[in-house]
Amino acid sequence: MPEGDAVHRTAARLRSALDGRVLTRSDFRVPRHATADLTGREVLTTLSRGKHLLTRVEGGLTVHTHLRMDGSWRIVAPGARVPPGDQVRLILANRDCTALGRKLGMVDLVRTEDEARLVGHLGPDLLGPDWDPDEAVRRLREAPDRTIGEALLDQRNLAGIGTIYRAETLFLRGIWPWRKVGEIEDLSGLVSLAQRLLAANLEHAGTVTTGDRRPSNATWVYGRAGRPCRRCGTRISRGEMGSQPQERLILWCAGCQPR
Ligand SMILES: [Zn+2]
Repeated sequence: MPEGDAVHRTAARLRSALDGRVLTRSDFRVPRHATADLTGREVLTTLSRGKHLLTRVEGGLTVHTHLRMDGSWRIVAPGARVPPGDQVRLILANRDCTALGRKLGMVDLVRTEDEARLVGHLGPDLLGPDWDPDEAVRRLREAPDRTIGEALLDQRNLAGIGTIYRAETLFLRGIWPWRKVGEIEDLSGLVSLAQRLLAANLEHAGTVTTGDRRPSNATWVYGRAGRPCRRCGTRISRGEMGSQPQERLILWCAGCQPR
């Protein structure tokens, strides 16, 4: 599941491929917009907001995409073969390159002035220019009886955290994932740490929270169920929490994150 840092990197790749160039082809392979055609319009820019991507196009239109579970945008040379089957949901091409949106969980075309309807509910974006830790804390505190694990994934509180950063942030702060939001004293430190972890991973693919980029050493708890904690040796626990079916996975160390 792509998290905020991966979506942010994707937006940067789309900007370098599409910004300021006129579309020579658009192909919406979703029923709702199958007849849409953006050919001849210049792409203004692509922004990421939490896990949403907003590609603004000349004429007051915005292409809204979301990577969901395993979506991606690939940039290929013009004329490159498009993979067969139904994996490609959207193609945006100019004279120099072709952007292939594969397995996108959402493809929509809206008026740019209506973007707020899509992303206006989101809390402060951990990687956005308007990141506001105080506002994130304020939103978290509005539901003090909620578990911190669920609250951190709720993009209305703060936007960009998925299951990996949730698990890693809570481990590093020594917080049991089912602890109530209202019982956590230093929420500000918690959200600031999450922000630093995402920001530290902006420049490279993959998620590193230990400072060690070797794949087997990159995380504290995520992907390490049943293996010994790097700090205390307790076997890492794995469980489920929350109600969003794709985002239940939680890993923690019962030694470092006691009840
Ligand atoms: Zn431990």
